[in-house]
Amino acid sequence: MIEELSDKQLERYGRHILLDEIGYEGQLTLVKKRVGIIGLGGLGSPVALYLASAGIGELTLVDFDQVELSNLQRQLIHNEQRIGLNKATSAKQSIELLNKDILINTITHRLNDDELAQIIINHDLILDCTDNFASRYQLNQLCYKHNTPLVSGAAIRWEGQISTYDFRKEGLACYQCLFPKKSSSDSINETCSQNGVVAPLLGIIGSIQALEAIKCLLDLPTLNSKLTIIDGLSMQIRQFNLKKDQNCPVCSIQK
Ligand SMILES: [Zn+2]
Repeated sequence: MIEELSDKQLERYGRHILLDEIGYEGQLTLVKKRVGIIGLGGLGSPVALYLASAGIGELTLVDFDQVELSNLQRQLIHNEQRIGLNKATSAKQSIELLNKDILINTITHRLNDDELAQIIINHDLILDCTDNFASRYQLNQLCYKHNTPLVSGAAIRWEGQISTYDFRKEGLACYQCLFPKKSSSDSINETCSQNGVVAPLLGIIGSIQALEAIKCLLDLPTLNSKLTIIDGLSMQIRQFNLKKDQNCPVCSIQK
């Protein structure tokens, strides 16, 4: 276990250490943390790069997909040389160029519930950077069950949203309180590949997810139980308080 920051770390993370809210102790906390990033696409790209540059000690990158040319419009952690390569592997290569100090694990196959649960149990925080509702519901349910904070982001067309679910705390709303599961609906399967999304919006939402993750790891104020929606066309930013659904099939059940 790391007990103190090296001279190199003091220099690299100096701009964090200067902040009252982080400081030496906060940075030491970050270098001891393990964070899981599920999805290394448009949101996962800024999330992984910022969390690596910020010095999170261990990152687990999960993605079974391969890099395609159409991804490069917004998935900035990949590049033309990596087309055809697994996205988690490609992301690891980019991170290693940025920060050799951190440990990076990659998982390149489709996970079953048990494998995903193990990752959630073994990490301090999970970032949902997936692009489909099935994965979001699954991550929400497993993070709730295992008391692991979840930072969730989504972006489609010109609009993006972010929320943080700190499941270490009791009595708060979960993702499924906000978006109750519908039995069948076309909108439930909406993804960027089918609907389009403007490139920098992913950078904005992903960067806010990374910011939320850092604050959550340091017990600083987050969007816990709030939803922020950003309209990239009008540049209106709205925030809503999330209400717990007393009949939610996920979080109304005792753990
Ligand atoms: Zn709920």
